[in-house]
Amino acid sequence: MKTYPMTIDGKSVDTGRTLEIINPALGQPFAAVPVARPQDVDAAVAAARKAFPAWRATSAAERQAMLHALGAALEANMPELMDLITRETGKPLQGLNNVGAGMELGGSIAWTHVTADLPLEPEVIQDNEQARVEVHRKPLGVVASITPWNWPLMIAIWHIIPALRAGNTVVLKPSEYTPVATARFVELAQAVLPPGVLNVVIGGGDIGAALSQHPDINKIVFTGSTRTGKRIMENAAASLKRLTLELGGNDAGIVLPGADVQAIAPKLFGVAFHNNGQTCACLKRLYVHDSQYDAVCTELARLAKEVRVGDGLDPATELGPLQNRAQLDVVSTLAADAAANGGTILSGGKARAGQGYFFEPTIVAGLSNGARLVDEEQFGPILPVIRYSDVEQAIALANDNPNGLGGSVWSSDLALAAEVGKRLECGTVWINEHGAVQPDAPFGGVKQSGIGVEFGHHGLAEFTSIQTVKIMKN
Ligand code: NAD
Repeated sequence: MKTYPMTIDGKSVDTGRTLEIINPALGQPFAAVPVARPQDVDAAVAAARKAFPAWRATSAAERQAMLHALGAALEANMPELMDLITRETGKPLQGLNNVGAGMELGGSIAWTHVTADLPLEPEVIQDNEQARVEVHRKPLGVVASITPWNWPLMIAIWHIIPALRAGNTVVLKPSEYTPVATARFVELAQAVLPPGVLNVVIGGGDIGAALSQHPDINKIVFTGSTRTGKRIMENAAASLKRLTLELGGNDAGIVLPGADVQAIAPKLFGVAFHNNGQTCACLKRLYVHDSQYDAVCTELARLAKEVRVGDGLDPATELGPLQNRAQLDVVSTLAADAAANGGTILSGGKARAGQGYFFEPTIVAGLSNGARLVDEEQFGPILPVIRYSDVEQAIALANDNPNGLGGSVWSSDLALAAEVGKRLECGTVWINEHGAVQPDAPFGGVKQSGIGVEFGHHGLAEFTSIQTVKIMKN
């Protein structure tokens, strides 16, 4: 079994402890990584701190050239990285609607190049005979990036590239479930970046907590559960670290009366089930008007029964396994609770016997708010479809949740759908689409789905502090 490296200050570090990484399609280990000790966290932060002055002093053009070179390195190593992502996450190489390891690499490459090219020029607020007032954006220092297991490499890229573009150095901690492709990428990046600019430490929540508490880290960018986000915020308070928190979602979609059921059903199915529902901004609760409720349920259940579930390395596979056993248990518990409390299971409903962490794609009718499957983030291949009788009621039900990541409205009346969409309490609302992000448009959660945004110049600004410069002229 191959061991992938942990890189600190440009060098591979042997910690004397290793962790085996499980392929969830088989439930068997396929690779190993070193596990960081507390002194490795200190060494990584010290290396990033040491590298910061020289990195900050590089010109924008120099940094942009190095970031484009990272994009080229991702592209040159795409087959190997896709294979590692499929083995560690279980997601198919291509997958349902092409949302698979190929998209994870394609997205990583696109985000790298677009983010590298984002401008970060000073803004001139005033320039007259009295004074010139400029707003400058300065790097913060050492940024810690803590990532989850669902899109491990792409989310790491979402964190690292804007941090580096703005002149910060980085210590990255991938999820202990899926560190392999990220560790390999950081190893490849050493051929491009000066030592210490990008470091990786591998471990679990203890290593994440050590980073959140570390006095020499200036900012944490975290993607993961709301529960962990709250812990990080507590730990970061002691040194008033800057935070970007991209947390859990429980995104609602509303199908307005009169929508074209045959046209939207495959889209609804795709946005709820791609990556097996393990995406922060998957559609997680679907509200459908009484007049079309049965038709939508029937179509979604048909699609759930037809979709091809299997090992992601098989090119025919559309949905893989859950990424880990704990998540399989969460989904199984929610399915059992739904069946016991008035839900009707229209397809699937249980884990698949045999090897791997597979769960049958499941559509549940007959529930409403108050049921666990509706109120809690399932993060798996099970979708509750909820009946409503008037649009005001649907809006109220959609907003009746502590999360506020995304939301969607489905209708052929685009103006009406946009009006309804703007009343949803969420960071992004899509019309006739759900969860589609792009590197130049800000994305983030409201309510308990997070703090701050990523992407585009709004996201880049979060990796900087403002310095206002006022030059008196007389
Ligand atoms: P998680 O919170 O369990 O783990 C995320 C990371 O935090 C891991 O690297 C983990 O080791 C680390 N961690 C655990 N305890 C920690 C602590 N006390 N201090 C610091 N770090 C700690 O999340 P997960 O299960 O890996 O990911 C799934 C969740 O992530 C879902 O809720 C999903 O909605 C959310 N998510 C959100 C977005 C978004 O952009 N909003 C994107 C992807 C995933």
